[in-house]
Amino acid sequence: MDIRNYPAEPFKIKSVEPVKMINKEQREKVIKEAGFNTFLIDSEDVYIDLLTDSGTNAMSDRQWAGLMMGDEAYAGSRNFYHLKDTVKDVFGFDYLVPTHQGRGAENILSKIAIKPGQFVPGNMYFTTTRYHQEANGGKFVDIIKDVAHDSAAYDPFKGDIDLNKLQKLIDEVGAENIAYICLAVTVNLAGGQPVSMKNMKDVRELTNKYGIKVFYDATRCVENAYFIKEREAGFENAEIKDIVREMFSYSDGATMSGKKDGIVNIGGFLALRDEDLFLAAKEMVVVFEGMPSYGGMAGRDMEALAIGLQESCQFEYIEHRIKQVRYLGDILREAGIPIVEPIGGHAVFLDARRFCPHLTQDEFPAQALAANLYLESGVRAMERGIISAGRNRETGDHHRPKLELVRLTIPRRVYTYRHMDYVADAIISLYSHKEDIKGLRFVYEPKQLRFFTGRFEEI
Ligand SMILES: *Cc1c(COP(=O)(O)O)cnc(C)c1O
Repeated sequence: MDIRNYPAEPFKIKSVEPVKMINKEQREKVIKEAGFNTFLIDSEDVYIDLLTDSGTNAMSDRQWAGLMMGDEAYAGSRNFYHLKDTVKDVFGFDYLVPTHQGRGAENILSKIAIKPGQFVPGNMYFTTTRYHQEANGGKFVDIIKDVAHDSAAYDPFKGDIDLNKLQKLIDEVGAENIAYICLAVTVNLAGGQPVSMKNMKDVRELTNKYGIKVFYDATRCVENAYFIKEREAGFENAEIKDIVREMFSYSDGATMSGKKDGIVNIGGFLALRDEDLFLAAKEMVVVFEGMPSYGGMAGRDMEALAIGLQESCQFEYIEHRIKQVRYLGDILREAGIPIVEPIGGHAVFLDARRFCPHLTQDEFPAQALAANLYLESGVRAMERGIISAGRNRETGDHHRPKLELVRLTIPRRVYTYRHMDYVADAIISLYSHKEDIKGLRFVYEPKQLRFFTGRFEEI
């Protein structure tokens, strides 16, 4: 490995938060008490926390200063206008509905854009997104290209929609029975894999023919833009912000979790191009979130998000971000650890089927692997496999995703390369005695989003 491939941090550290590691006996007690669910471990008991990149970001000095500029008016806060202008500048959308986080926007979009019984095709599902679609009578259909389900296959744009699958669905059910296309940039559950500009353009052309709307899940759109710059011909010299704006020019609107590429700790929004839909969204936001000029956010949080979105689009920031994640993945690959390829934007995903070939999917290998990684090292990761996929509402069976993964999610601007070395060493060590990892079974299974609060025991 040539460390020159991984740029040093483009920031200085102004404030630190000490972390400590508890010993192995204590960790054993903690993981048992947590029902082998890493979501149920207290933060204090974690050494390096790679549970999620959601809301775990380190804000800049400018963002912290922005918090002091909060205008906490009930209506017409100036921070709303700053955020609105920023969303127009970065994404090109005229209409903004702030929400408490991404799922608040998903709830509103699903309510205003789905009629019961309609299909909502998407490039793989996301947990909360699909929940809201289905709760509003929509039927999710996966139209991502097949290669996305093969964790070992290399493809520079593994998140692309398969246009043949989309055309086939339109032919089968009719355009009027498709609520909209949900296009995620990047695709979280495929491993943070990007979508190409060409694919976004092609999806727009095809849907225009039928008058079908396309809404993006914009959550990690800046990471997606970096991959386009890196991998797609014609974008080598483009500015990140120009790429982001072009991406969204092929959409009708977007839901955004500010907790990811907004580099804040809380917040999100729904952005729209169409005024009628915006009026419908405003009727919903007052019921579920708050006044249209703050939705679910404080004025100060809107300010921090407006600043964070601009910082996110800076080349030095996003290059370091992507390459720090890649650094961890590259060490693991060189050590022969099975990971999802290519390495995505926000996380390195361990392939639990190949890591634990002695466990069947019904023994929840990814859940077991995440629990054992904590036990080994104090590193917290999370399951993305059969537990996250939940059950089919009609049949009651488990959804059985091909990918059975453990996600090592890297918070933005929080950890150093040396922290990544520690994580890699822990995984390599666990791999050397992987046969010790035992399968799990449920002792408590919640009905909705069971991965958050479900509890397990060893078989
Ligand atoms: C996190 C996430 C969401 C939901 O956003 P929240 O802010 O957590 O509500 C939606 N889609 C994707 C792809 C995400 O990663």
